[in-house]
Amino acid sequence: MSQTSQLLLEVKGLKKHFPFKQGLFSRQKGVVHAVDGLDFTVNRGETLGIVGESGCGKSTAGQLILQLLEPTAGEVWFEGQNLTALGKEDVRKVRRHLQIIFQDPYSSLNPRMKVEDIVAEPLEVHGLYKGAALKERVVELLRLVGLDEHHMSRHPHEFSGGQRQRIGIARALALNPSLIVCDEAVSALDVSIQSQILNLLKKLQKELKLTYIFIAHGLPAVKHISDRIAVMYLGKIVELADRDSLFAHPRHPYTQALLSAVPVPDPTQRKERIILQGDLPNPANPPKGCSFHTRCPYAQDICRSAPPALERQADGHLAACHFPL
Ligand code: SF4
Repeated sequence: MSQTSQLLLEVKGLKKHFPFKQGLFSRQKGVVHAVDGLDFTVNRGETLGIVGESGCGKSTAGQLILQLLEPTAGEVWFEGQNLTALGKEDVRKVRRHLQIIFQDPYSSLNPRMKVEDIVAEPLEVHGLYKGAALKERVVELLRLVGLDEHHMSRHPHEFSGGQRQRIGIARALALNPSLIVCDEAVSALDVSIQSQILNLLKKLQKELKLTYIFIAHGLPAVKHISDRIAVMYLGKIVELADRDSLFAHPRHPYTQALLSAVPVPDPTQRKERIILQGDLPNPANPPKGCSFHTRCPYAQDICRSAPPALERQADGHLAACHFPL
């Protein structure tokens, strides 16, 4: 495990509410609680996985951390600086240390640009390299991700999905970032290619001392790469724990249900799948009390009225449940 005790990122009470309008006169009809009060830290060199169903707010959380969206409330502290209090120019300067790898390598690369120009672009924007030195740096970055200089003159459509994601990673590495948000970075790839990219990310983390926030809806990929895992449901973290401990003893009923759906390779170790009833509630109208109570097999009266706080349990897990497992 690559975790160290040095704090790199701290997220405090982070919220993003999107007002929405409806009808003839476009009056505001309500607010979508996309991210509804996140608190967590990330240490230098570690990988924090963030997992949850589509629509739980995990990608919005990533964008808020990178200052690509303005929060409704809360703070993002990075290397001791409150990013949410910075002006645009200062955010631009800090952002070179914070990068993102997107889900879809097919649409995140400009199809008209050559690989050389795609990878060189951030270096040119920040005026860091020119001429032969720029080209050398591009070759160095391509080699880091398992490509080489022969690929420089090609366009994205000439590559496979996995290779395109390698190009996206080379581009994200160009400015020597300390934190990379991987937003569903392997979700669009075949399973065998997924593990190649995950192994590449782990290798790069070791070599370049990178810190990752790895956002995904699939638990196997999150398990493969994360040191700690935060489980999100309707804009909130419902459980946060060390990876192995979370998989061995989930404390929140939602985590338990997610884990029960992960296939086990050993047929002798059969486990019962917990089928959640109903769909994810509408984040514009989240259930009162515990937001999971409409689907929770253990819900009791108090769950329908009092929201549970995210509290440390005896085994060190943080869990937001009145009746942790
Ligand atoms: Fe289920 Fe109640 Fe715990 Fe919510 S607080 S997860 S409804 S048991």
